[in-house]
Amino acid sequence: MKKLFIILLAIVCVSCQTTDKENVLKDKVILFVYGGWDGHEPKQCHDLLKPWLEEQGATVYSSQSLDSYTNKELMEKVDLVIQTWTMGTMTGAQEKGLTEAVRNGVGLAGWHGGLGDSFRNSTEYQFMVGGQWVAHPGNKVDYDVDIIDKKDPVTKGLKKFHMKSEQYYMHVDPGVKVLATTTFNGEHASWIDGVIMPVVWKKYYGKGRVFYSSLCHDANDFNVPEALEIMKRGIEWAVLSKEEDEEDDDD
Ligand SMILES: [Zn+2]
Repeated sequence: MKKLFIILLAIVCVSCQTTDKENVLKDKVILFVYGGWDGHEPKQCHDLLKPWLEEQGATVYSSQSLDSYTNKELMEKVDLVIQTWTMGTMTGAQEKGLTEAVRNGVGLAGWHGGLGDSFRNSTEYQFMVGGQWVAHPGNKVDYDVDIIDKKDPVTKGLKKFHMKSEQYYMHVDPGVKVLATTTFNGEHASWIDGVIMPVVWKKYYGKGRVFYSSLCHDANDFNVPEALEIMKRGIEWAVLSKEEDEEDDDD
């Protein structure tokens, strides 16, 4: 009972931090592309996030085809692409469609393998995302997430939290702005004992804002309030990509 109370309190605390800010998603156009390896529950995660996006006033185009990236008319009108598509392959035209759109100012947001382990043969895509999954030693393990940037709006007010899920070991672009990390122990791979790994980051690719969180292997992981909150706030940052004023670009 006491534990339940603490969990409820944590949910209230996380949500009350977001109540009085302006609704940045209102009237924004979002392309939500989902598919790829089913173990990451792309449809369930899409179904979990889409109602929230619409409640905030965004128009959401859902797509189960990477060919959406080649639809120039569509790509020109979107403010943000949310993608959950693990592994799979992308054609040169699909890669060009997405990377050009982001380079020209469309935002991009995603999580776990749906953005950070997609299209293993597409290096330009990986250059855009800023990191690539390589391992999750021990599969589902207990690990902590440390908030290292306490000023950034995405992680402000959040405290260290716990996950029981895949702890992603990634190859990460040194140019990203890291907001949260996790520390590996050597239990499943002795040589990585003590390695501090980025978990949440933001970056640019051309004019486009790119947001990534390695959390949430499946839809159930979004029940961790901080993991869901980080994703929502990351989306709210990336959706303003086209509105960016160079003067306030101090990220
Ligand atoms: Zn996973």
